[in-house]
Amino acid sequence: MAEKRDYYEILGVDKTADENQIKKAYWKLAKKYHPDVNPDDKEAENKFKEANEAYEVLSDKEKRSRYDQYGHAGVDPNSFAGHGFGHFDLNDIFNTIFGGFGGFGGFAGFDTHSARHRGPARGANLRYRMNLDFLEAAFGVKREITINKDDLCDSCGGSRTSDNSKPRTCSVCQGTGQVQMVRETMFGQMMTSRPCETCHGSGEIIDNPCPACNGRGVRSKTKRLEVKVPAGINEGEMLTLRGEGEPGENGGSYGDLYIEIRIRPHPVFSREGNQTFCEVPVTFAQAATGSEIEVPTIDGTVKYKLKEGTQPGEVYTIRGKGIPYINRNELRGDHKFRVKLEVPRNLDQKQKDLLINFEESLNDHNYKERKSFFDKIKSLFN
Ligand SMILES: [Zn+2]
Ligand SMILES: [Zn+2]
Repeated sequence: MAEKRDYYEILGVDKTADENQIKKAYWKLAKKYHPDVNPDDKEAENKFKEANEAYEVLSDKEKRSRYDQYGHAGVDPNSFAGHGFGHFDLNDIFNTIFGGFGGFGGFAGFDTHSARHRGPARGANLRYRMNLDFLEAAFGVKREITINKDDLCDSCGGSRTSDNSKPRTCSVCQGTGQVQMVRETMFGQMMTSRPCETCHGSGEIIDNPCPACNGRGVRSKTKRLEVKVPAGINEGEMLTLRGEGEPGENGGSYGDLYIEIRIRPHPVFSREGNQTFCEVPVTFAQAATGSEIEVPTIDGTVKYKLKEGTQPGEVYTIRGKGIPYINRNELRGDHKFRVKLEVPRNLDQKQKDLLINFEESLNDHNYKERKSFFDKIKSLFN
């Protein structure tokens, strides 16, 4: 969809325009672009549609302030499931504005009890974010979690009535949940629809509502679940607990519970896929002589013999010491460590003399890189 134009710009008014100015501006445009005046004119139809949309927002104090604060995102009916301005239908627009509009940020408020979906409907999926320590994710963990959700009412078992009777169809709206009404406008009569007040848009009347759930059939409950997190799970991955979402309507099945994994950073290790990484500080003498050093892995510290003449930043790989593969735990990634060369600080004079003597014992062969570097410099400038 194309970028939306600013509502004030569409109506050609100032951001400070009062109600009257907005109304006037809208009327002018509506008269000019009304489909009755411009039959089969796509451009006019779009302009009319645009003006309507702008007016519906700017003429409503609450929506206007949301729009001023958040822009189109604050009022965009396309953000709400199922409704849009894709094809032009005035009824649609009024429905969207007055009907299934849950309020700002109100995805959850979208009316799932709407009479339009009266058959069995699957319950809502739920989402839970689980924070794990680095090693818990690597080796797996059992966690007990507590979720709050709507679940079937114990008193009525979801039937919504206190006597197990069936709800009857609302006679005012014939079960549609909507009442049509005729609005008198300057263009003549227009049909619009609003939620039925008798049944509050549900299309049904319950004579003896269950007192425990007020006829909702569901009650907010707290549920404890034990979650087995498999070894090797990674950041952002999702565990699915089938049937642990909210109950369905009219006999529909339960939704699922999705658990999104977050992993806290580790002070020593990092991870990329199934590979683990760390840095190990090494002394100049250890690197030069190829000492055996201690290297941390997720299993604990292991001994590792460096090769003689190890350079700063050199990376070593220890096979099979990384993260287990999920559901194939006998397979593991590799562990890599990078040598971080530490130069000694605060030497006393005796130590410095020793080092200088030692340095004098060295020749070009011991410092290959240094030699070739200065050879290169020489060839560039001579
Ligand atoms: Zn109940
Ligand atoms: Zn009704």
